[in-house]
Amino acid sequence: MRYSAVFQCFSGCPGQWAVTELMYTCPTCGGLLEVVHDMDALKDKSGPAWTKLFDERYRVNQWPYGSGVWGKREWVMPCVSDDEIVSMYEGGTNLFWADRYGKQLGLNDLWVKLCGNSHSGSFKDLGMTVLVSVVRKAIREGKKIKAVACASTGDTSAALAAFGAAANLPVVVLLPRGKISTAQLVQPIAHGAMVLGLDTDFDGCMEIVKRLAEEGLVYLANSMNPLRLEGQKTVGIEVVQQFGWEVPDWVILPSGNLGNASALYAGFKMMKELGVIDRYPRLVVAQAENANPLYRAFVAGQKEVTPIVAKPTQATAIQIGNPVSAPRALRALEAMNGLVEQASEQELADAAARADATGMYTCPHTAVGLAVLEKLRAKGTIQEGDKVVCISTANGLKFTEFKVRYHEGQIEGVNSNLKNPAVLLPADFGQVVDAIYKRFPS
Ligand SMILES: *Cc1c(COP(=O)(O)O)cnc(C)c1O
Ligand SMILES: [Zn+2]
Repeated sequence: MRYSAVFQCFSGCPGQWAVTELMYTCPTCGGLLEVVHDMDALKDKSGPAWTKLFDERYRVNQWPYGSGVWGKREWVMPCVSDDEIVSMYEGGTNLFWADRYGKQLGLNDLWVKLCGNSHSGSFKDLGMTVLVSVVRKAIREGKKIKAVACASTGDTSAALAAFGAAANLPVVVLLPRGKISTAQLVQPIAHGAMVLGLDTDFDGCMEIVKRLAEEGLVYLANSMNPLRLEGQKTVGIEVVQQFGWEVPDWVILPSGNLGNASALYAGFKMMKELGVIDRYPRLVVAQAENANPLYRAFVAGQKEVTPIVAKPTQATAIQIGNPVSAPRALRALEAMNGLVEQASEQELADAAARADATGMYTCPHTAVGLAVLEKLRAKGTIQEGDKVVCISTANGLKFTEFKVRYHEGQIEGVNSNLKNPAVLLPADFGQVVDAIYKRFPS
């Protein structure tokens, strides 16, 4: 294979390492690593030649190209061979035309990328297929890995457990007890992972798993490990592909640990460097007001993110106060002329209900993105004719408790303005008829 990718320090310290090395930070400065590709080698094809190749592979049945990630393997992880790849046909998700919801907001061109319509129900599958495939390669090369582990707010652990089980790798997940949905908790249990429910929040779990990895007890599968970002960066590429290789004006992304925001930029940067696109969309990072360290830094014009203790939010997957990828996300915001906006619990709950009533089924994180969209549209920052993409990060079916409680009016501190509770009646034909006439009088 003439293409290659290696680890390098994100802050520019010298040195490059194979992606199968068991390392998660720069040995010189202790900072983040990134994966860098041999861009000169990739320039052997023109932009249009790459897009033609990617279109030919899109959702075909030939292993492994039907995966939205491995259909772009040269740009993602060229060193992994077909029989090392652990894939579940991730990616290739619907880019939903939110026509009715968009019109309600005064938008003509609104799209929702449904990354939650995936094997384990969230975008985390896109990164995990790459990480677990590289782990399999490392083990074949003789590296000793006792178990692969992550801290999680629910979706990373579900994805890791699924891919780990498919590849017959031992998996350990550290979860903040009582802070994830039932569906998310049962996923790694069902996949046979070792599930540790710790009496802390995500940031507390992250501290412990980082230490386990530093001491060589486990291989770290959190997005601090840049292998994850290589898979996740295909979201932006796939969105542009689904528009016939046209760039939208805005991409809105609900964010917590900020890995995905960084990955999104990496995908757009690669497309620009390789002649596939000639401009970037503007990036909007959407945060829950109760877990908003990036928003605070952005508003204050700071070049660094100060960790906070995140407060509880319905958007549990982004209840993170100390985002690992903050330096990467700041770089993404700068390059993509980005914005950070936040949504309150009331705003996200109503946005979810409003969107669902137009046929979507939004998870609370996606609702943070939609609530932010509603605000930016109301302010006029986003205009009527703009082409806007909201990234939906997880499947709403994982968050049944959130939806039940909203429609029953049971979320503390939130008015269920748009609730639609079930009508409970005896099995009486006349009463059913009366109820229908009451609801639809004309
Ligand atoms: C992981 C996750 C996020 C946040 O992604 P980051 O990379 O941590 O910013 C958002 N929504 C859902 C549903 C997630 O699972
Ligand atoms: Zn360094």
